[in-house]
Amino acid sequence: MPLRVRELLIAAALAGAIAPTALAEPRPADTCGRATFRVIIDVGHTAQAPGATSARGLPEFVFNLNLAERIKQQLLDAGFRRSALLITEGPSRKGLAERIKRANALGADLFLSIHHDSVPDSFLEKWEFEGEEHGFSDRFHGHSIFISQDNSDRAGSLLFARMLGNRLRERGLNYTPHYTERYMGNRQRLLVDAKAGVYRYDELLVLRDTDMPAVLLEAGSIINREEELRMGSAEHQALLGAAVVDAVESFCKARRPRTPTSTASRPGGVSRQATAPAVVVPVRAINQR
Ligand SMILES: [Zn+2]
Repeated sequence: MPLRVRELLIAAALAGAIAPTALAEPRPADTCGRATFRVIIDVGHTAQAPGATSARGLPEFVFNLNLAERIKQQLLDAGFRRSALLITEGPSRKGLAERIKRANALGADLFLSIHHDSVPDSFLEKWEFEGEEHGFSDRFHGHSIFISQDNSDRAGSLLFARMLGNRLRERGLNYTPHYTERYMGNRQRLLVDAKAGVYRYDELLVLRDTDMPAVLLEAGSIINREEELRMGSAEHQALLGAAVVDAVESFCKARRPRTPTSTASRPGGVSRQATAPAVVVPVRAINQR
């Protein structure tokens, strides 16, 4: 546009005659500011300390990585373009400290840790798969969601946890209620929302020490022989991813005023390691090791 016309438009906008947005690029309706809203998808465990072992002998870390990558992609596709994977390395204690440090440095609006569930060792039975003996337990199935009451934003954590649980339930996915049982011993938890399937796990460091709303999703039980196969399927991962995206959208709308736009352009706000494309190891590849 000619300089003179643009100056007149700016002057008119400043005088209140024209809405300032008339000068901006047309944008699709976005009531939550998803372009600036940052979600960290934390890949539970590390390649060196990979968490639980599935009924067919695969490490939990691989399931976490595959699902987290899927969720990140679906968030990017939905316009949450600052979504980042958090992948750490090393032994579990070192990995945990690094995870929390990096999450806090990223200045995110939401932290979602992705895990897959197993059972206490006393529940394990034996079976043979491809000539090798493995532990399994088909007793429990379903996801579960955890928050810490000691997180600096406990209201935000509970709000997102409820939204996520409800979006999963609407897709026909039921949470597992067994964490309330006494036989879970030191893994017994308090159920704080019986409809959405949200439990308290106050002392879990990634939920407690992250300085943003933080939620942990045990996406399903990989020690359950049938559910392990389901968790490895692209269709099921996409379904879980859709539930996460819906929940993030609802949360973003509800929490919009709390997201400072300055965070988006803050120098050093992006961790190179966290935003680098993650190497996704197909379950099949690991299976052939
Ligand atoms: Zn785990």
